[in-house]
Parts: sequence; structure tokens; C-alpha cells
Amino acid sequence: MRNVMDPNEFLREFRKACATPVTLLRQTAQAMATEMQEGLENPGQRRLKMLPTYLECLPSGNEKGLYYAVDLGGTNFRVLRVQLGGKDGRILKQESEQVPIPHEVMTGTSKALFDFLAETIIHFISKEATLGFECLNLNQQRDIGFTFSFPVNQTKVNQGAIVAWTKGFNITDSVGEDVVEQLQSALAEMGSEHAKVACLVNDTVGTLAQCKYWNQDAMVGVILGTGTNACYVERADAVPCWSPSTKSDMTVINVEWGNFFSKNLPWTFADEGLDKDSLNPGRQEFEKMIGGMYMGEIVRRVLLKMAEETGLFGPEVPEKLTESFSLLTPHMSTMHGDDSPGLQVVGAIIAEAIGVKDTTLATRKVVYEVCDIIAERGARLSAAGIVGILKKINRCGDLMNSCLTGQSNTQAKKTVVAIDGSLYEKYTKFRNYMEDAMKEMLGDDYADNVTTMLSKDGSGVGAALLAAAMSTDQ
Ligand code: ADP
Repeated sequence: MRNVMDPNEFLREFRKACATPVTLLRQTAQAMATEMQEGLENPGQRRLKMLPTYLECLPSGNEKGLYYAVDLGGTNFRVLRVQLGGKDGRILKQESEQVPIPHEVMTGTSKALFDFLAETIIHFISKEATLGFECLNLNQQRDIGFTFSFPVNQTKVNQGAIVAWTKGFNITDSVGEDVVEQLQSALAEMGSEHAKVACLVNDTVGTLAQCKYWNQDAMVGVILGTGTNACYVERADAVPCWSPSTKSDMTVINVEWGNFFSKNLPWTFADEGLDKDSLNPGRQEFEKMIGGMYMGEIVRRVLLKMAEETGLFGPEVPEKLTESFSLLTPHMSTMHGDDSPGLQVVGAIIAEAIGVKDTTLATRKVVYEVCDIIAERGARLSAAGIVGILKKINRCGDLMNSCLTGQSNTQAKKTVVAIDGSLYEKYTKFRNYMEDAMKEMLGDDYADNVTTMLSKDGSGVGAALLAAAMSTDQ
């Protein structure tokens, strides 16, 4: 008979391989801050792209008037309008509509796509005269914030060429074309010259902008959803090769931190395998350890190895466990949320996703532990990324020194980190691990000055608020 390893022994070793002690987190934060600086100084040459957004202002809360946002980032297209009432009125009213994009449009011509988007926008604008919204003349300009969550080579605040379509879109004749111009000309051809795309942004920027509207201490926007990314407020003079057109001294940088990697990251056999079998091996490693698209798959790979080497699910390896992505992050988070002594929910998910109907409590405990290890690692690494950004913008005083000496900096400015995405919003244990790690890294004094905050739906409202801020700023 084959010598099998004890599952708990395997688990102990795996936990060690995934460990993220505070020293490792601090090194990771420092490496992130250093790479950010290098990315800024060497545009496009480093792992962190540090993309300029060309924004010269963010919402102040004083904006007034009627503004629009359009959001293209997946299989639905969303249009939204907000009526802003200034400092006291704030968001007086908002309305949105979502339309599914027909499959033939997602894989058709660029003209068909932008005509479809323009038609949806014009139809939505035509229903503007409802209670609570300002009645604009037909020929008055409507400013639109455009959230576009695909890789784009941005060259101005309202100009950017699509690099590649992802997420099921395949419109080859538009690669390399300016998405704003295409939308703008489709609108013009349909007789709507008065709808004007004021800015092109991604979801992290929308998240930051929405939070900033309510709280001027917001300096960082983070997405923890299918993938992960962050942006932050940078000094304009820290960005070489660009100067603001106004007297603005700030801008926003899109870090594209999913592509971060450092050799001290706890990278295991499961990460190696996932990366090798992915569509983009050797890229987006940080995202592959954190993103909702991947964490469940990492858990599956660990359980598969345990099934093979420790007989975790009996003498046979369950067939379903060999299928990539048979276990998803929502499964993982549901199992991880099971605090019942018998772990019945864990048992039910194992039956559903892995196809093993009867499991012992000991097996269920092992599966729960694997979820815990992967969630804790992902959450703590996200915290290290955020602290890296805070370090870059000096929002944690001399963090590394103070952490070493135990001295505090009571002068530190208040900083808000705006976060959106299902991992932060719905995966409670992930969020708790992340926030605990931030406290651990920053210490009590700093932790008092840094707040993380859910900035829900920033990719919609945030873009409209940015359009408003830009029109107010002029
Ligand atoms: P986006 O695709 O815009 O990032 P979300 O922020 O909703 O959208 O993130 C979706 C991702 O979050 C999916 O990968 C999914 O696996 C994961 N997810 C959704 N619900 C949960 C949940 N309750 N717990 C953990 N992960 C979840």
C-alpha cells in the first residue's frame, strides 16, 4: 500500500508556505512603493504601468447640475444621470438603466457596438424630463463620464485607444481606435451633438472619485472583485512627461497593481500551476493571489493535491475536483462563513461542487482550513498593497521607521481608502483579515488615521461626479 501523508501534516506545511507575517507584509509594501516610483520614472517599462489618467481635479462636493455616466465593462451597458445640488443638496436624485449587450454586438463590428451604445444613451437622455431632474434645453450640453473597463492606451483625459477586448468581447476592427471618438461620432451621426464625453476612466478611478465627493480625505481607490487594481492621488510634478493644463497640482495614477510581483511573496505550487495554465502566464501574479476569479481555483488546486497525496476524499480522486474552476470564490466564501460545529454548509458545498456526498467532520474541517489560508493570504497581501500606496504618498508618516522604532507620528493626515468589489463587500472574513493586517502594519496611531470605506458603484456615479467636477473646474 502507498504511503499516504496525513492531511493535517500537509495542511500545517501549506499554512507555513502561505504565511504572511507582518515583516513580509512590510517588505511587500516597501517593494510596492519602490516599484511604483520606478514605474512613474520609466513609463511602460516596469511591472507597474502607473498609467496617467490625465485628470486634474476630483469632485469637491460643491458640484451642481445634471450629469451623465455610461459604464461599459461587462455584458451589460449602464447609463446613469445624477442631479447635483451643491454642498448642501449633494445628490438630489439619480436614475440608471442597464441593458444587456446582445452577443452579436459583442462580437460584431465597432460601428454596431458604438451605434448600440449611442442609441441607448440617446433613448435614456430623451427620458430626462422626469420629476426631480433639471429640464435642459435640447441643445444644452450634457457632460458624460465614460467608465470603460478594458485595457486602453489613454492619451488625454477624454481620449484612449482600445488595446484589446476581453471578457467575451471581440471587435477586431476597433483595436487601436479611440473609444471616446467612436462613441462621440456615433452620437453625432444620430443627431445628438450635445452629449459630450468629458472623461474616460476605469473603475478604480470612479471608486476614488465617488468617495472623494463625500470625503476630501479619500486618496486611494481599490477594486477587490473579479480582479484587483488600485489608483491614487499623486502630485502632478511627480509624473514625468506630463504637465497639467491648468494650475492643478494633482492628478490620479492608475497603478495596475495586479501585475505586481516580488520574490518574497508566498507563491506556492498551486499559484505556479494556476499561472502556468492561465491565458496570461507570468503576468498579473498579484491579482492571481487575490482576485475573486482565482481564489476559489487555488483552493481547488490545493484540495486536488491533498486528494492525491493524502487521500482526503477517500481512495479515489473525485472527478469534479480535477476540473478547473469547478470550485469558485463564492463557494469558498460560503464554506468559510460556516461557523456551525458540524460544518454542514461546508459538507453541502463539497457535495455540490466536488461531487463527494458524504464527508467526515475531519475532512470538512480541512477544507474549511484551506479556504481560511487562501482568504487570509489574499486579504493580507491586499492590505500590504494599500500600505505600499500610503507609503508612496507619505500618508503613514515614516511608516517603516516608526514600525521599527515603535514611535508614532501624531501629525499624520487622515486618509480614506475607497474600496469596491464583492470580496470587500460580501466576503466578511476576507475584509476582516484585510483590515486587521492594515492595523498590524500601521500600528494603533496610524490605524487611527487611515480608514477603509466601501465606495459602492463608483464605476457609475463616480464617473458622473468626475464629469461634473471637470465642468465646474473650467
Ligand atoms: P467585478 O466583476 O466588476 O469585479 P464584483 O466586484 O461583483 O464584480 O466581483 C465579482 C467577483 O467576486 C467574482 O469573481 C466572484 O467570484 C466574486 N464573488 C461574488 N460574490 C462573492 C461572495 N459572496 N463572496 C466571495 N466572492 C464573491
